[in-house]
Amino acid sequence: MKIQIAGLSEGSHSYQFREPVAHVGLGEEFSGEVEVEATLEKSGTQLYLKAGVCASGHFVCDRCAAPFRLTVTSTYRTFYVWDSREADIRDASDVQVIPAGLPVIDLSDDVRQTVLLAVPLKLLCSDACKGLCPRCGADLNKEACTCPPETNDGRWESLRGFQVDND
Ligand SMILES: [Zn+2]
Ligand SMILES: [Zn+2]
Repeated sequence: MKIQIAGLSEGSHSYQFREPVAHVGLGEEFSGEVEVEATLEKSGTQLYLKAGVCASGHFVCDRCAAPFRLTVTSTYRTFYVWDSREADIRDASDVQVIPAGLPVIDLSDDVRQTVLLAVPLKLLCSDACKGLCPRCGADLNKEACTCPPETNDGRWESLRGFQVDND
């Protein structure tokens, strides 16, 4: 996922990429293609890149353990500068210093990181997922189990140790 910058004219340039997820180092959960729409603005001392990324994959629900498909989209921006002194005046996290004469910039690392950061910490097949019954393991999305409702404080106390996930 590369953009040729050698000989690039001043001004704004648009790019679209559609490549297998493996090309940017996304494996395991992700599948299919990662899509990137990028705008690169060149001015005398810097290149300013804005990119939107989109990828999808198969994940396992934290609550009910069912596999589900998740599409993540996100954006990022980067200033590429040739002179490290330019970097000092900006938030360093947005700036990459590149060597003079570099012919191409490779977006792969930034695209991969942006996709991975866009994956929610809490993976749910749906916001309304009811999860599994902590006592009998029934999938409460599919069936109502016959476990009696919690009423006794003492029993509630004893269940606490089994709660692995109390968000
Ligand atoms: Zn679920
Ligand atoms: Zn139950």
